[in-house]
Amino acid sequence: MPAKPAAGPGSSSARGTSEPARSIKAQCCIVGGGPAGMMLGYLLARAGVDTVVLEKHADFLRDFRGDTVHPSTMQVLDELGLLGEFLKRPHDKLDHLQGHFGDDTVSLADFRRLSIKTPYIAFMPQWEFLDFLFDAGARYPNLKVLRRTEALDLMREGETVTGVIAKSEEGRLEIKAALTVGCDGRHSVVRECAGLSIEDIGAPIDVLWFRITKNPAEKDRALMNAQPGRILVTIDRGDYWQCAYVIPKGQTEQVKSRGLEQFRSDIVATAPRLAAHIGEVKSWDDVKLLTVTIDRLTRWSKPGVLCIGDAAHAMSPIGGVGINLAIQDAVATANLLADKFSNGCPEESLLDQVRQRRMFPVKVTQALQIQMQNRIIDRALQGGPLRAPAFMKIITRSPWLQSIVARVLGIGIRPEHVTSKAAAIT
Ligand SMILES: Cc1cc2nc3c(=O)[nH]c(=O)nc-3n(C[C@H](O)[C@H](O)[C@H](O)COP(=O)(O)OP(=O)(O)OC[C@H]3O[C@@H](n4cnc5c(N)ncnc54)[C@H](O)[C@@H]3O)c2cc1C
Repeated sequence: MPAKPAAGPGSSSARGTSEPARSIKAQCCIVGGGPAGMMLGYLLARAGVDTVVLEKHADFLRDFRGDTVHPSTMQVLDELGLLGEFLKRPHDKLDHLQGHFGDDTVSLADFRRLSIKTPYIAFMPQWEFLDFLFDAGARYPNLKVLRRTEALDLMREGETVTGVIAKSEEGRLEIKAALTVGCDGRHSVVRECAGLSIEDIGAPIDVLWFRITKNPAEKDRALMNAQPGRILVTIDRGDYWQCAYVIPKGQTEQVKSRGLEQFRSDIVATAPRLAAHIGEVKSWDDVKLLTVTIDRLTRWSKPGVLCIGDAAHAMSPIGGVGINLAIQDAVATANLLADKFSNGCPEESLLDQVRQRRMFPVKVTQALQIQMQNRIIDRALQGGPLRAPAFMKIITRSPWLQSIVARVLGIGIRPEHVTSKAAAIT
């Protein structure tokens, strides 16, 4: 895929500078090369839409950002004929979900009971997944991914958004586009510049992330480890545990003020199997803070502009569903809009159909995350004697209920299937 924009004369300037901008044209300009942006770019280019994706970073190798690829996403890849290639990339599998709650061990979801091609969650580093989507898109000459290119502002004619003003290594760049799609994540510039209002649902937790080497002989693969006052999620990544230590919102400094030794001993008390390698957390630099946010836009579009993925609805990491919702949004957007570019920008009523289609799964998923926060996480963080809640014990006793939980988690609410048509490659 060409990485450089075709330079040309430009007319306007970004946020008050007078530097002349180079200019390119596309039918669709996608801001953000995360899961939503890369998948939408692929799908629109596949359908014959001239598409540019802007990504502010030089590559996909960034901080840990979650790496759960759920069965719903693999179904989409299968529908696109990409599943075989995807599975060749390095990944680990999680086919059932267990947790320790005080002294109780619970089994919550069993993906093996789903009659689908890939009955498991694939753990693939997000950069690997994005690199895979980038490579898959390379077959379409009408898809350009411009890296090191950061959107700064939107261009407008009257009330209609007509493209993006960006900065690249070569300087200012205008991308004139019939439709601009904000896939630029939870701190979206597109949604801010478009003036789309956010409903903040609130999340009372933050998460500290770190990794610890895994003992190869370890049999206990429990994901959730809850003890009075502490919750630790341990994701089995083959030779290491990706760990998420859940703390009440805004309490990072309190945790740090108790000292690293206390932090390490809290971790080991929550998951004793980490004891042998806990010394790998040598300083606070080894521990990264994720500020958890749950929000959503009330309106996802205005004339000429649409937001999807985290830009339209930031998800809590509970359930590891953010990547998959972003992919589902991209599929729904392409299904609804890919063949509507022949007369310029699809009408706003059509753009709004994306929100109408996707708001229900977003709301239900966020509501489930909030229930998990209030009923399980809050309860554990309060301290005091801890037993598994009754509903977890009921699920543990019922393989059928474990398959229902697996379906909700792995396939999600109102799963999307690819219906947008592939155009002939010219
Ligand atoms: C620490 C952490 C752990 C997580 N764990 C999980 C997990 O285990 N499973 C899961 O499913 N989800 C997880 N999530 C959530 C998940 O990462 C997001 O829900 C998902 O990535 C959303 O995809 P997206 O494409 O909408 O946005 P993002 O992944 O946020 O992608 C946005 C992209 O836009 C780019 N960008 C931003 N601004 C601009 C700009 N102005 N110009 C150009 N480019 C721009 C960014 O560089 C980025 O590449 C986690 C998130 C974090 C932060």
